[in-house]
Amino acid sequence: MACVRATENRSPNRYPPIDRSSPRTDTLVPVTATIDLGALRHNVRTLQAHAEGAELMAIVKADAYGHGAASVVEVLQDEGIRHFAVARPAEGVRLREAGCSERILVLGAPFPNQLAVYSQHDLDLTIPSTEAARAALDHGTSTAPLRAHVKVDTGMGRIGLSPDEALSVLSELAQASGVRIAGIWTHFATADDPESTFAETQLTRFQDVLADVRNTSVPIRPEHVHAANTGALLTIGARAHNFRAPLIRTGIALYGLTARPELAPRLNLRPVMSLHARVTQLKTVSPGTPISYGAHWRAPRRTRIATLGVGYGDGYPRLCSGRAVVRIGNEKRPIVGSICMDMCMVDLGPPDQLPASDVQVGDKAELFGATDPTLYDVAEWADTIPYEICCGISPRVPRRYEDASSENEAKTAAPPPSSHDVL
Ligand SMILES: *Cc1c(COP(=O)(O)O)cnc(C)c1O
Repeated sequence: MACVRATENRSPNRYPPIDRSSPRTDTLVPVTATIDLGALRHNVRTLQAHAEGAELMAIVKADAYGHGAASVVEVLQDEGIRHFAVARPAEGVRLREAGCSERILVLGAPFPNQLAVYSQHDLDLTIPSTEAARAALDHGTSTAPLRAHVKVDTGMGRIGLSPDEALSVLSELAQASGVRIAGIWTHFATADDPESTFAETQLTRFQDVLADVRNTSVPIRPEHVHAANTGALLTIGARAHNFRAPLIRTGIALYGLTARPELAPRLNLRPVMSLHARVTQLKTVSPGTPISYGAHWRAPRRTRIATLGVGYGDGYPRLCSGRAVVRIGNEKRPIVGSICMDMCMVDLGPPDQLPASDVQVGDKAELFGATDPTLYDVAEWADTIPYEICCGISPRVPRRYEDASSENEAKTAAPPPSSHDVL
């Protein structure tokens, strides 16, 4: 597969057209994740303005946090993003195959036998250990050097060289012709917690490593230096990217979210993903009628029950049982009984009152979206973080891409089918 470098090809029409509407799957599957590419554009522009000159590295691992990496990367390239990152080489290869021509850093630790894939697909490599540095020196050649980002573990405790090891590894790499030092980087463990001071400790350790790098006799000239994730950008600010040629590795904010809802007001972001499911059956039950597995919930009165075509097999967490509400008929109504793999049930209230009197089979309920319930609510009901909710929306849920920004009218998806459409 040909790997075109970023600078060689910047024409706007270099991608195969993506069928954004997927109408067939929409009619055959009762649940849809809508991806608002206009919101994605808004978020990346907001982040670029907030980054004060530092360049963004867009984190698109795990299929762009469940949003669909091919479409997300296409929009972000269009918005001028030149650095992307994924977790694993397989994700990088998929992005190349989807037409991504910019830098792609693989954040995870490489196995030595994967280095040929990095070369073949022009992927930037993380060097998290002396062993990985050795393998890179063995593999790289002066005609086809590997681009390496040396990872220093300043306190995350996941992967990386200790601050004591970093200088000798960097010196050795700097003197080799088969490896180019594309970056020196670290990762914060607590940056999304405004109360914690540990990120400051990590930043100091990282600055000490950078000072050693500057003061050593071997010239070490990394192309970029990076530490900040979204949390650091929001809580530490400019000091977390006060380096020469800084990058900010931002993921969750691109998708309109922050690690915790308290951080959300710090940036004017718009959620990119919303989740809708259709009503597949309606019934009126008498008082005492049990609903769902375990028969734990019983109707307290004569009640209209809607069955929705979404469950934990779609990534809507079972822990939401007994806690969640959905928006249906423009009202918030509770999910009752256990959430099943493919379905869940909603209490619409007394059959002769709104919304019960109005809702029909085929109508849409919103599981999360721009107004409440939001994805933050779902994360709270499921005792988890927003990341896990969007990453967890399963591949069997069709993604519907909408791009309503005026300059992209041509790409706008067909409007969603009216709510009384066939399932
Ligand atoms: C996932 C990841 C990020 C992005 O974090 P966000 O909180 O989504 O901004 C940055 N750096 C590394 C190393 C990561 O693994």
